[in-house]
Amino acid sequence: MAGPANIGGSRILLRKLREIMEAGGEAQQRLDRLVGMVASTMVADVCSIYLTRGVFHELFATQGLDPAAVHRTRLKDGEGLVGLVAETAQPLNIADAPHHERFAYRPETGEDPYSSFLGVPIVRSERTFGVLVVQNRVARLYGEDEVEALQTIAMVLAEMVASGAFGDLSGLSDVEARASRPELLVGRAFSDGLAIGTAVLHEPHAPLGRVIADDPVKEETRLDAALAKVRQALNAMIDGDPGRISGVSRDVLETFRMLASDPSWETKLKHGVRAGLSADAAVERIRGEHRAKFNSTRDPYLRERLHDLEDLDNRLLRALAGVDGAAAQHMPDDAILIARELGPAELLDYGAERLKGVALEEGANTAHAVIVARALGVPMVGMLPGLLSRVEAGDRVVLDGERGELRLRPEPQIVSTYLQRQSLRSARAAEFARLKDTPAVTRDGERVTLLLNAGLALDVHHLDEAGAEGIGLFRTEFQFMVSETLPRLESQTLLYRDVLETAGDRPVTFRTLDLGGDKVLPYVAAEREENPALGWRAVRIGLDRPALLRYQLRALINAAAGRRLRVMFPLVTTVAEFDAARALVDRELEWGAKHGRPAPGQVEVGVMVEAPALAWSIPDLKGRADFLSIGTNDLMQYFFAADRGNQRVSERYDILSAPALRFLRRIRQDAEAAELQISICGEAAGRPLEAMAFTALGYRRLSMPASGVGPVKRLILSLEARQAAEAVDALIDNNAGSIRAELTAFAKQRSYAL
Ligand code: PEP
Ligand code: MG
Repeated sequence: MAGPANIGGSRILLRKLREIMEAGGEAQQRLDRLVGMVASTMVADVCSIYLTRGVFHELFATQGLDPAAVHRTRLKDGEGLVGLVAETAQPLNIADAPHHERFAYRPETGEDPYSSFLGVPIVRSERTFGVLVVQNRVARLYGEDEVEALQTIAMVLAEMVASGAFGDLSGLSDVEARASRPELLVGRAFSDGLAIGTAVLHEPHAPLGRVIADDPVKEETRLDAALAKVRQALNAMIDGDPGRISGVSRDVLETFRMLASDPSWETKLKHGVRAGLSADAAVERIRGEHRAKFNSTRDPYLRERLHDLEDLDNRLLRALAGVDGAAAQHMPDDAILIARELGPAELLDYGAERLKGVALEEGANTAHAVIVARALGVPMVGMLPGLLSRVEAGDRVVLDGERGELRLRPEPQIVSTYLQRQSLRSARAAEFARLKDTPAVTRDGERVTLLLNAGLALDVHHLDEAGAEGIGLFRTEFQFMVSETLPRLESQTLLYRDVLETAGDRPVTFRTLDLGGDKVLPYVAAEREENPALGWRAVRIGLDRPALLRYQLRALINAAAGRRLRVMFPLVTTVAEFDAARALVDRELEWGAKHGRPAPGQVEVGVMVEAPALAWSIPDLKGRADFLSIGTNDLMQYFFAADRGNQRVSERYDILSAPALRFLRRIRQDAEAAELQISICGEAAGRPLEAMAFTALGYRRLSMPASGVGPVKRLILSLEARQAAEAVDALIDNNAGSIRAELTAFAKQRSYAL
């Protein structure tokens, strides 16, 4: 570890750097002085600065190489050792450079005599736009302190270039140190909506102009205060309210706490501050190291630790910036949050008040955050490669959660197009709002009941807003997915009671835990399965390990005391499975009666039709089940043998095709014959054209996401159910492929409101 002598050395270096920075004069002169100073302080024979212009890394200043090579020597992206450093964004420390496989010889530089090479990237806001190099004649590896010192210089240099300190340097205007041009990033839409706002970084950067500290003692005090804040917050999260909704498991928090108390982390941070960096810059430097190690490590255990460390670095940076615990005090009220990944708890912490949108660079593991974003009504786009290196805090951005796009620093005409689209959306929303108390009745008098799909307490207010008549599907696993630990009986009961109370006399259908498949819990170690969608999931887990299911049923029964309880089971495949599940309900009712618990006023037990085998067993469910609900998401996945989560195949087959619609027609007829109430609750029910087809097939209960209620109601109000039924019947009898185009044409011709 570096001793005080090195700290003193670094401090002198930073002071000299600062002098150069603040001295006036020509930019080229200052760069020349800088390389001279670095070479002499580090006792290097050569010090050079390469900056990236377009696809080249160009020599901008050198001490030790032939000065005639300045602005002449250019290495193509990825070429030579300089290219390697830029490509990996990591330091490269080698004793025998000329024999390195990536060495590219440039005779004009006169670098023949130099063996050792140390290059570090010049990076800011994840953007690498140059390389700083020192070289020596003797073949040796540079020490850790030297690498660190050079990285610090590179950091300051990055800042100088980005802040325009060298603004007058020829050619520097096309060095991309700061993202400034309009850019379009295309990713995936996770949560619908449009937002125009200001970029706020979840992983902030040291503010420009604050890399070198004026007063190291003051910086250390700031650092101490921020460290204390982060530790306190972690302790509070661990010891605090167990019912708190958070996506971070207790284990992870404990690991954080341990890491946050690790003296070597703190020592490294202090080392940076004592060397003259601002507290923010010291943290950012360490975070850069963690990130670089993370990128080059394959070992999953190490990667996880490094990821945790980076997360801690980010918490500390936020604490320094005064945006602690993601609390949004300092956020602009049109904030668009930019992050690499985001957990559901973090998203909840930001809240919906000022958050207008979320953009994620990755987002492969965001299923849980997506649930929260949708419940909050916040648009979200993910899988935007390169996002973090292209956006700056404070940038104007347009987030398009319909198409899955993000526009950075858009031109005014683009913004005005989006403003138009936004006002169109609000006009439509206003139209739907006007319909909210109008019952959904077709023009020929068929009443269709429109229900809501929900999963968090947050969702339930949509009942009033959207004008739904009840909750047709309450996905109870959401509470489990966004919790840090397994929700206990008490917190389950609280949630269910809360939902029932908010719903008032509107019916709520709770679905028991549907875990497994694509729904995994962060705190339950799951066994890897070859085919999770066909594996041990949903009611299969519930029947094999009934403890969890029985607890849940107990919570539902408690919550529904004196009220109507509707409960249904997911992915039941056989009638025997349904009988077994229903027996558990009876058992819990008996248990409650024996223990003097108030019973629900009425209990209805239903089943989801998601497995084709069950769809062919409906006559046998007569008298056993109280109602049926078709989960088209799963039913179609099994029907077409196409993974619903795999984009390559999920859109390949159309529910609006003869085989699928014939199947749905048959299910509806069987349900009617068995005198079983039936609804459809997959996503398809929320799309007007699909809803038209389902109504035509005789379905009269549709449950859907809140965003679907308005559009589907408008469609129903414009529909002639009998006409539609005739058209659909004719189309599915004659056509084996997708009939989407034909249905659309038919609806348009009849002026149905699609
Ligand atoms: C379905 O499968 O259609 C359904 C409604 O359940 P989930 O999407 O939660 O699997
Ligand atoms: Mg399902």
